[in-house]
Amino acid sequence: MKAIVFEKIQQLSIQDKPIPALTEGDVLIQTELCGICASDLAALRGDVVDYAPPVVMGHELAGVIVDSRHPDVKVGERVTVNPMLSCGVCTECQNDLDKYCKNIEGIGHDIDGGYAEYMRMPKHGVDTGKLIRVPDSIPSEELLFLEPLGCCLNAMQETLFKDSVAILGAGPIGLMFTQLTKRAGLTTYVVEPQAHRRGVAETLGADHTFDTSPESVAHLQDLTHGGVDTVISSTTNNASVIALAFKIVRRGGCVNFFGLAPEGEELRINLEEFHYAGHKLMASWAFSRASLAAARQLLIEKALNFEPLLTHRFPIADGLAAFENAAAQRGIKTVVHP
Ligand SMILES: [Zn+2]
Ligand SMILES: [Zn+2]
Repeated sequence: MKAIVFEKIQQLSIQDKPIPALTEGDVLIQTELCGICASDLAALRGDVVDYAPPVVMGHELAGVIVDSRHPDVKVGERVTVNPMLSCGVCTECQNDLDKYCKNIEGIGHDIDGGYAEYMRMPKHGVDTGKLIRVPDSIPSEELLFLEPLGCCLNAMQETLFKDSVAILGAGPIGLMFTQLTKRAGLTTYVVEPQAHRRGVAETLGADHTFDTSPESVAHLQDLTHGGVDTVISSTTNNASVIALAFKIVRRGGCVNFFGLAPEGEELRINLEEFHYAGHKLMASWAFSRASLAAARQLLIEKALNFEPLLTHRFPIADGLAAFENAAAQRGIKTVVHP
């Protein structure tokens, strides 16, 4: 089978690999689609260094069970995965904080994932509830968004909201946040440099969109009488994005640095200014089992529109072009398929 292998920083290759062999309790997933995640791009760039290459990346998958050696899993079931395989017994795991477990194996991160025709889900993952089964009514084109949507829902639960919110970045994550904040009844502003992404944000209900020019930022400040209640930064949190977040949040407002940061990026704060600005600074990352369950439910209810989000499909054999497309931010979401 063809697979996209992360070999080391700046080195990705398409390889022919054997179909994974199962041992007792494992199941085999045939991949239908797998989304390219910003974290995989960051790992390839070297901004994120906790992957364990060589590894087949890919954790936003939609697939079907084609072989099962687990008594609870049937061939033909449609699935995606909770890609954080954790110990399942420590205090963190017992409290649905699996991401802080000390024994995590990440699918597409430490063990082979979904940028391949087939993926093995180990028995341990099935036994700890990390195989997510879904009804046939959810098409692959939506199922692949379950995991990133779970990340957004986790952040929605953690963030402090009042009436207005600014989403920084209208990539796949920003456009899911746009829909979720509108559903929550919030006046939603989207700040995004690319015109085509602003257009999609407007289609999906954003009240106003802005580019990142000083005039646009000033317009947003005017419109909100000094700033929004909440900023969710769903783009790379480099120095200019951090500065932008502080320009558009009101005094006393909340900033959630959801996006990844370039390696070595720091947040420097004058503590006295911070104190009197009263800002609530926070970060949200990844998902919980509960937020993935909530994402699954929203997909069943067809509560969100994913149609404008999935813009580019590449065969796994053209995986390098797929990564290039995603890195260049062409379209919104780039996915690969067998
Ligand atoms: Zn992801
Ligand atoms: Zn654990």
